[in-house]
Amino acid sequence: MSQFRERFSRFMIGRYGADKLSRFLIGFTFALIVAGIFIRSYWVDIAALFLMVLSYFRMFSRNIGKRFEENQKFERISFRVTEFFKKWRFKFQQMRQYHIYKCPSCGQKIRIPRGKGKVSVHCPKCSTDFIKKS
Ligand SMILES: [Zn+2]
Repeated sequence: MSQFRERFSRFMIGRYGADKLSRFLIGFTFALIVAGIFIRSYWVDIAALFLMVLSYFRMFSRNIGKRFEENQKFERISFRVTEFFKKWRFKFQQMRQYHIYKCPSCGQKIRIPRGKGKVSVHCPKCSTDFIKKS
């Protein structure tokens, strides 16, 4: 077993190895394999096989600069995607915790916490007071 490990580490010398993108690809491959159990389409299997081959190709690749660049690109995209979902989650939480009311006289949007019964809202822009149910 240790001999195999030694041989493998010698094999990996000068090769790119695993990175965030390859971990994502392997995760996606397993997701497709699981999906393939439920969706009986051989396109799912082909896609899983393709992704598996692709992730191994990247790990054993000797073109380290190119693979590094791909990973950088992937990290930029995944950052943007997670930021997008964070923004939506924040908006959703705000919607659950607050009511957004418009001031009847100037149209200014005012955020009122929910569940406080009838409240008097004071508009910070035009100083109008109005009663709203929160
Ligand atoms: Zn106002």
